[in-house]
Amino acid sequence: MRIRETNLNFTRTPANRSSTAKYIIHHSYSGDVSAQTIHGWHLARGWLGIGYHFVIRHNGNIERGRAERTIGAHARGHNNDSIGICLTGNFMINVPSKAQLESLVWLLKDYLFPRYGELPVGGHEDYQATLCPGAKFPWDTFRTMMEGEEEMAERVILLNSEHPMNDMNGGIVWLSQRLKAPVYFKGTPVKAKRTYVVGGSTDKSDIAGEPGEIVPISGETRAQTLVALGKFLEEV
Ligand SMILES: [Zn+2]
Repeated sequence: MRIRETNLNFTRTPANRSSTAKYIIHHSYSGDVSAQTIHGWHLARGWLGIGYHFVIRHNGNIERGRAERTIGAHARGHNNDSIGICLTGNFMINVPSKAQLESLVWLLKDYLFPRYGELPVGGHEDYQATLCPGAKFPWDTFRTMMEGEEEMAERVILLNSEHPMNDMNGGIVWLSQRLKAPVYFKGTPVKAKRTYVVGGSTDKSDIAGEPGEIVPISGETRAQTLVALGKFLEEV
């Protein structure tokens, strides 16, 4: 998926945000209109141009609104630290299309989260006295889609930051490459078929998330751990 550039002309360039703390969802309270059309509406209000950063059409196309690093005009009191996403339609009467929801999930998880962080996602109604994005906006379905897209990793490595192995960066990198597995510090929630724990407890209840099968690679000391690691690597 990708974002369709619209190259809209603003009366002047909006200032950049100094921080981004949340994502706010809106509906256009209209039919399926283009970012260009909404731009016209907002210009007519005397604004610099379209107030949203993104517009998601019925067919799932994502159109660029305001440049994403700039201050939007979509939720009074929250424009300075939020990104505004508008789904076209009137969700007081209708529901968003499947394509719209899928694009919204993609935009958040695959595009915005890596750039700005996994920040809270709310409706306009959570921040201002409004019914936007509409009483029929399917929050449960949307939240399930957001969670459901979480991929179960084949394997991950959990590293106890207190353990003497923690300074064995070379060894851990080597292990990570050999297992083709990402390394996380213990305490990070994981979702994997198999979790290799280097140092620390291998009690399932001590590991956040869904660790799957747990494979310990540990000794009490750094030397013992290296021996355990060495044996383990011979077996891999
Ligand atoms: Zn709104």
